[in-house]
Amino acid sequence: MNRTVLICAGVFVLSSCAAQQRSVGKTEITKWQFGKRGAVSITYDDGTINQFRKALPIMNNLRIPATFFINTGQISGSQYMGAFIGRPVKTIIEETATIPTNTDNFFERSSAAGFLGLNGTLEYHIKAGEQFDEGSPEKAYKIIDELFEKVRLGYFTSSGSAEDGLHETDVTTWDEIRIYAAQGHEFASHMVTHPYLAALDEVNILYELEKSREEIFNQLGLKYTFSAEVPFGTENERALEYAYKVYPALRNRMPELYLEELNRGNSENPRSAEMEYVQWQRGATTKTSLSLMKSWIDTTSVNDNIWLVLVLHGVDGIGWEALDINLLEEYFRYMKSKENNLWIATFGDVTRYMRERMNSIIKTGRKGRKITVNIINTLDPTMYSIPLTLKTYVPSKWKKVQVKEGSEKRIICPQYDMMGSYILYQIIPNTGETEVTRK
Ligand SMILES: [Zn+2]
Repeated sequence: MNRTVLICAGVFVLSSCAAQQRSVGKTEITKWQFGKRGAVSITYDDGTINQFRKALPIMNNLRIPATFFINTGQISGSQYMGAFIGRPVKTIIEETATIPTNTDNFFERSSAAGFLGLNGTLEYHIKAGEQFDEGSPEKAYKIIDELFEKVRLGYFTSSGSAEDGLHETDVTTWDEIRIYAAQGHEFASHMVTHPYLAALDEVNILYELEKSREEIFNQLGLKYTFSAEVPFGTENERALEYAYKVYPALRNRMPELYLEELNRGNSENPRSAEMEYVQWQRGATTKTSLSLMKSWIDTTSVNDNIWLVLVLHGVDGIGWEALDINLLEEYFRYMKSKENNLWIATFGDVTRYMRERMNSIIKTGRKGRKITVNIINTLDPTMYSIPLTLKTYVPSKWKKVQVKEGSEKRIICPQYDMMGSYILYQIIPNTGETEVTRK
């Protein structure tokens, strides 16, 4: 049997003995996992096929995880397809002949727009949704009026199905997604179709939110019902209020008071952010240079509070603003080369880490020569159970340290800073007392 022998290298200790004595037992949860200086989450939207066929294998080779926001209705084998929930569309179409679109009927008409059984009507939902989301409802009403006038005049051909425009031939399957998830990638909701949620009525908003969640829950399990991105990066209050009731974490916006958000359109320097954490979203398009993309990594790795959230769409010719696969590979390799300072993790895991850390209480004690540590929080353990990295100061004469959590024991080599000798180790909160002793 092979046995690995742990050899801890000795290091000169610069701090005074008095300072070391005072710090023994002192424990903190490091800002990022493994005591890294910053975090990076790679996120892909829309689930286009080359994200899986081309980008994912490169990330697997480099052992980098990503988060994929997928439209569940487009995945083959899904139970829930895009649908309009409401009155018969024939009745709605008839009404548009006499009643112009207004604040009372806009949501119903905009919800039905992509489900009239006709080719080419979905784009009117998108155009109207864009206007509505940007705060121009009157323009949105006009677009819907134009659509239904054309419908009444027979302008569109029959599509042969209720749903318009969502027939991708090159799609991934749930069986493939289960394999990718087992490789460490996060799958998260980007709704059933890809609607402007802000331009839907309540019943259709709930269909998009809840059925995409149910599909993911049935196909992948509870863990993957954590994160979502409401399409088009919307910040619409009404849409996000509904979304937060279904998903604990939205890339669109997060409510935490300790987190500053710099979204894709925000050009502020993340280094001037003063909060505990800053979520720095950057979208890479075909116009973004590789050197700029690399500079985001550099900035994140030399500060201590930046969470870089990369927003990617198409890959190698397929999808919106598709990035060249060679550029992506070089970028991922660069990111990997900085991993000493960066925690590269999924959107959901970084969110969980921050929330667990900010909501946990640390209880430490001394029992003879033992240091005891307890991490407690009241978060829902079905959603929040990723380990946190603890930094505990130990007496400088301890050259090897044993950490005992339940029946599991680990031996850890101390490191040194100005405060003295310390160890870094991972503990899942709410799992009882951990004992730290000299080995
Ligand atoms: Zn999208």
